[in-house]
Amino acid sequence: MLSLSSLARGELAKGAGNTMVSRGVMTMLLRVMKVRDPSIILHGQRIATICRGVSELLGWEDSQRVQLELSALLHDLGKIGVPDHILRKPGKLSNEEYDFVTLYHHSAVSLMQSLFVNTSLLSTLGMLHNNFDGAGLESEVGGCEVPLGPRILAVADAYDSLSSPKSYRRGMTHDEVIKILTEQSGSRYDGNVVRTLNRWYETQGHGLFPLGDPFGENEPADSISVEQRNEVVVLTQILNILYQFHSLYDGFFIVDSDLNYCVWSAGMPGLTGKDMEHVIGRSWQARDVKLAPIAQTGGRSVETPEEIVPQVLRNGRAQFGTRVCELDESRQVSVDVYTMPIMDGPKKVNGVVQLFRCKGGVRRQSREYVELKLAATRDALTGVANRGQLETQLRHLLDDFHNHEGTRSLSVIFLDVDKFKKINDTYGHKAGDQVLVDMTRLIQHETYSGELIARYGGEEFVVLCPDTDLQACVRRAERLRSAIAKSSIGGIGGLTVTSSFGVSTGRLGDSVQTILERADACLYRAKETGRNRTCWEDQEQDDSTEHADPVEEGESLVSIVDGVFLFEQDIEVSTSLELTAMKLNAFISSADMKVTHQEQGQLKVRLGQVGFTRKWGSTPERQAIEMDIRFETSLESRENGHSKTRRRVNVRIIPIGKVPNEATFELRCLQMMMQLRSYLMGA
Ligand code: GH3
Ligand code: MG
Ligand code: MG
Repeated sequence: MLSLSSLARGELAKGAGNTMVSRGVMTMLLRVMKVRDPSIILHGQRIATICRGVSELLGWEDSQRVQLELSALLHDLGKIGVPDHILRKPGKLSNEEYDFVTLYHHSAVSLMQSLFVNTSLLSTLGMLHNNFDGAGLESEVGGCEVPLGPRILAVADAYDSLSSPKSYRRGMTHDEVIKILTEQSGSRYDGNVVRTLNRWYETQGHGLFPLGDPFGENEPADSISVEQRNEVVVLTQILNILYQFHSLYDGFFIVDSDLNYCVWSAGMPGLTGKDMEHVIGRSWQARDVKLAPIAQTGGRSVETPEEIVPQVLRNGRAQFGTRVCELDESRQVSVDVYTMPIMDGPKKVNGVVQLFRCKGGVRRQSREYVELKLAATRDALTGVANRGQLETQLRHLLDDFHNHEGTRSLSVIFLDVDKFKKINDTYGHKAGDQVLVDMTRLIQHETYSGELIARYGGEEFVVLCPDTDLQACVRRAERLRSAIAKSSIGGIGGLTVTSSFGVSTGRLGDSVQTILERADACLYRAKETGRNRTCWEDQEQDDSTEHADPVEEGESLVSIVDGVFLFEQDIEVSTSLELTAMKLNAFISSADMKVTHQEQGQLKVRLGQVGFTRKWGSTPERQAIEMDIRFETSLESRENGHSKTRRRVNVRIIPIGKVPNEATFELRCLQMMMQLRSYLMGA
């Protein structure tokens, strides 16, 4: 790193590139990102375009604008060190993963410091992971204290992420994105910047920046040379070392052999009150970090700390000691100070790194530890929580539920892919795996933060929904169900994957086992009644679902004709026409039905009430439907040598009034069909 650093310094002195970053460094960084993952560059370019547009509208000067554009291009440099399963993970990162990515981001900022990238550009990048209201991880600045640059960058970053298509979902439209950004204005994003972005889009952005991929994401990847690969390896190694420093210490700095500062970590301002702008570009001074010996031990003179850094540079021997660090006039902390030489060969000292750790615990764990911890709780195939983690989290949530005496609700969704065995058998196990991965992405995309997704086993998943009551959770499940049924999963043309859902909600006294068992029982009911549907606990318990005929192959019985849902199913009976008609009459008089049409072989009835708003309610009486029942010609069949006459009764149902969704309608129809069937088949 230090040799790269001195190259960069040389180049900057020659005046190559602009004053913010030398041309050689910029080219190298962009190249490395491109080799690691071309989409990082494309994303950076799009954000730079947005930043330019927005800052122009805000009347920024050229030099400020260029700086912002450069920050946009470099903002994801840290990702070259982030492993693939996190880098390409769809949906939200867990807190630990986010922490991980943030530390790599800061490591990248440190790397760029050593390459003499302009410090004000770097401080823009350093603030990128702060929320607008200051809820960032690293510092307490927030609101208007976060300068405008990082705020524009944050909005542009989110805009591009949301509008870009992902493998598991389409890109959102401009309006959809603006809606989300506006909703989060004031907390995550600066509302004024969001409005400016919208204005820019309407005036110029529209043509300039079409949604999706203006740069042709599918452009052929340039062949990558061995040197370029090596460059990536070297920079990733440097980044990994910086990551270790960032994760294990509260602050650190690096000086070169001339005692010039190369790196001043994000933690240093907290220890010294000095920002990187104050130190990068000049040489080390003893008073930059105010250290004092803890106590004089036995009259032996302790090295005066000022000498440590030059001393280590001179003799190449690492030193360790505990010191008192003066944060400001009134605050002191005791810190462990490690001063280590950076060697170039066995003899030559190239620079010094000084690391500080405040007493009172390690703030973060090493990368290996975090990785291990993540791996132990994660399902290897899909990356979501595994069953062990699910049970741990559910136990916590149930404790919380009981602590609040059940006043805060907690619900559980259990889902299972329909006929998954058939997918495996038809397309192979690998395609089956891909279906599971894609399904997970979709579920992740559709769930909110705070909800936990876990793979329970095989093709079964569980979603934990805290603060969600049964009704809301059934709606969540329905949303997931229809999203899955609508999307192309597994990249297999013509394959429609559906899933069945069971929903339960917490009861006082529930254990992990009981709440999951109830959801599983509902899931079983969903499978029994035709699949691709949601069943929930306490749902129409008087319905004798165990007598329900399973519907063939789980295909949906509902279609949409002229914008109206239509349910259609046949019932086969073996009784005479007269007897069938009699039974049908009994059915009609059993409930409050109105015959609206009657002719030979056909009967139309209406049932249920339509309210003033014409919206469907939650009870059958408030879910008005019209049934069209027709007798079809008799079917002759031979069974055991006897000729048998069977008759088909064709039933079509349409809703009256506004139906909330297809599943509600389908469920209502299936319940109706069960009643009808029990009349027609019964004695
Ligand atoms: P149903 O609609 O009743 O749920 O039918 P199904 O075929 O989905 O259910 P079943 O439980 O009979 O079959 C599940 C299959 O899932 C059996 C097993 O081979 C397969 N499976 C389990 N785990 C994995 C996995 O990790 N990858 C793949 N490709 N298949 C898996
Ligand atoms: Mg299944
Ligand atoms: Mg199963």
